[in-house]
Amino acid sequence: MDAVSPETRSYMMSRVRGDMPTGPERRVGSMLWRNGARDYRKNCRLHPGKPDFCFHRIKTAVFVHGCFWHGHGCRVGRPPKSNAGYWKAKISANRRRDRRVLSALGRMGWRTAVVWECQLDNVKR
Ligand SMILES: [Zn+2]
Repeated sequence: MDAVSPETRSYMMSRVRGDMPTGPERRVGSMLWRNGARDYRKNCRLHPGKPDFCFHRIKTAVFVHGCFWHGHGCRVGRPPKSNAGYWKAKISANRRRDRRVLSALGRMGWRTAVVWECQLDNVKR
């Protein structure tokens, strides 16, 4: 964290803060709720990767991934031009962890789903 330039840091903060009030997790949560899928546990610590939504009865974990932090490679998730090496390392570490988590859940007999932030663009709030 200390190694980043002020410019990079403010970019990071803007990403983080931008996700707070109407964050993608909350939008997915209200979508699930509206559709009657209400028996989930949020940020479930009982399972690998602390899934955003964990449906224990049907053994399904749903992750909501920010396109930037999880390296979606889409329009939304483009990293800044400066400190390219730093971002590349950080994001590929996140991607490696995501893959480990999904396969760990798979080995436990769980189904997994990933919802990307950019997929929520056209969903009504
Ligand atoms: Zn995306």
